[in-house]
Amino acid sequence: MKLKLFKSVTFKLILLVLVVLFALISTSILFNSQIDKLKVQIDNLYFGNFIPIVKLENIQDNYKTIISCRTLKYICDFKKEQKIILEDWSYYYNAYKNEKERNVINNVDIALKETFKINKLHKFKKIVQKIEFLIDYETKMAFKQRKLFVEEYKRMKDYLFINIVLLLVLTFGIVAYIIYQVVKKDNQLRVLNTKYKIDSITDSMTSLYNRKYFDTIFDNMPFIANANNWECAFIMFDIDYFKQYNDTYGHDAGDETLKKVAKVLKEYFNNKYEFVFRLGGEEFGVILFDIDLDILESCLNDINQKIVDLKIEHKTSDVLDVVTISIGAIMYEPNTYISANKLYKKADDSLYKSKHNGRNQYHIHKGK
Ligand code: GH3
Ligand code: MG
Ligand code: MG
Repeated sequence: MKLKLFKSVTFKLILLVLVVLFALISTSILFNSQIDKLKVQIDNLYFGNFIPIVKLENIQDNYKTIISCRTLKYICDFKKEQKIILEDWSYYYNAYKNEKERNVINNVDIALKETFKINKLHKFKKIVQKIEFLIDYETKMAFKQRKLFVEEYKRMKDYLFINIVLLLVLTFGIVAYIIYQVVKKDNQLRVLNTKYKIDSITDSMTSLYNRKYFDTIFDNMPFIANANNWECAFIMFDIDYFKQYNDTYGHDAGDETLKKVAKVLKEYFNNKYEFVFRLGGEEFGVILFDIDLDILESCLNDINQKIVDLKIEHKTSDVLDVVTISIGAIMYEPNTYISANKLYKKADDSLYKSKHNGRNQYHIHKGK
């Protein structure tokens, strides 16, 4: 039984850990995918726009060097510039372009390669204009790309935020549900356990404490009285001529009467220092802590009267024509060290006196 409970709690704890792990892993994956996307965007921006502009500006600068050399009629060797121009152009030319761009670039490509074949100043000047046009175009594209990037970045931020909030809500929901289940089960078990504990000390017919519990409390009564310097009382109650009652009215009616008498006792002795027991059959016991003789006498008087006042018909009783009760009690003075057994015997003797003297009365044993 214990093992099963342990297994179910362990299972729920494992589930809890798994849910938290799932949340952590999902968050990391989510972050990772978005960071990757961001990196692609930055690469696009950098290599798609920034690098081509640098390359084109480089080509333009080199052409300008050639042009100034030619304009000033120096003897120029363009080998170095030509090499740089062709390399940078090849890089730019081979980069990804759409169909429209490709057409324009192919024209510039032909014109650019022509410049070195024809080697005329006006051709160089013309190509510089074309390169200028491409730089303008790429700059515009870079601005456009940046705008797209900023928009995409915003979208990504919102997407991440919403997803993480959803994930947190989901995780919180599942964790709360698991905790609720564990706590609910725990509470149910606690209630069952408490019920079992109460049941184990309760007499099922009368709902009074049972004999077993009486033994525990009664054995401890002298110690509790000594420790607190309390006077205590133990009272025994026995219904008069109950055998005749059963014979006259039947066993079921007998049971009902037992319940009614028990109810009177329970309602009368109802504070936390007062314990009412069914000792067995038609006998009841009460233990009162911190009480004095005067109060005890008035209580017992009341009880005898209250049972008579129930007016439960008992034609075959020799006392009255209603159910009555006989009572025997003892007072325990603190630090008199009388054993529980002896106290019980004395209370029983007092009860016997009540029976012997005509029933429906009480006797209290006084002194040692
Ligand atoms: P006395 O006045 O001397 O006490 O006489 P009595 O008849 O009450 O005493 P006795 O001990 O001879 O009989 C007790 C009766 O209580 C006998 C038994 O049938 C009855 N009794 C014991 N337990 C129960 C119970 O749970 N239900 C019912 N209906 N009767 C019970
Ligand atoms: Mg009896
Ligand atoms: Mg009796």
